[in-house]
Amino acid sequence: MISKAMQDAINEQINKEMFSSYLYLSMAAHFEGKNLPGFGNWLRIQAAEENEHAMKLYDFLLERGGKVELKAIAAPKQDWASAMEAVKEVLAHEQLVTKSIHDLYEVALKEKDYATQVMLHWFIEEQVEEEANAGAILDDMQRIEAHDTAILMLDHRLAKRKGE
Ligand code: MG
Repeated sequence: MISKAMQDAINEQINKEMFSSYLYLSMAAHFEGKNLPGFGNWLRIQAAEENEHAMKLYDFLLERGGKVELKAIAAPKQDWASAMEAVKEVLAHEQLVTKSIHDLYEVALKEKDYATQVMLHWFIEEQVEEEANAGAILDDMQRIEAHDTAILMLDHRLAKRKGE
């Protein structure tokens, strides 16, 4: 049986993953509204992945005999001044999620919950990938800065992205 402290911390993380999904979905709508469907495609994929992350934790909690407690999902922002600003926000948000996964791991260590520690290894690795991914897109954007043609080319490239 999972401890109450561990259960509460996992429920908090489920909420954070759901919020991430909501945030990326809001960004996708924003970009698609600005005729940048490639960015929209990338963010829709990210939103679906965040939903899967929440479900991984949800399933784990149930498998351990814990109680899933879904909380209210905060409303995300709806507008961004530029594509650059939004991509910067994706990276900053992923860094925040990395920190919260690490905090969750700390709880698992404190609770001597070995099964949760093993499950979280996947999330720790995933966050390395998420930060690298957002960082690479931000690097591309910083190189091209405000050149609209180049932004359209990047948009075209992101339109070809597929989920894993
Ligand atoms: Mg996530």
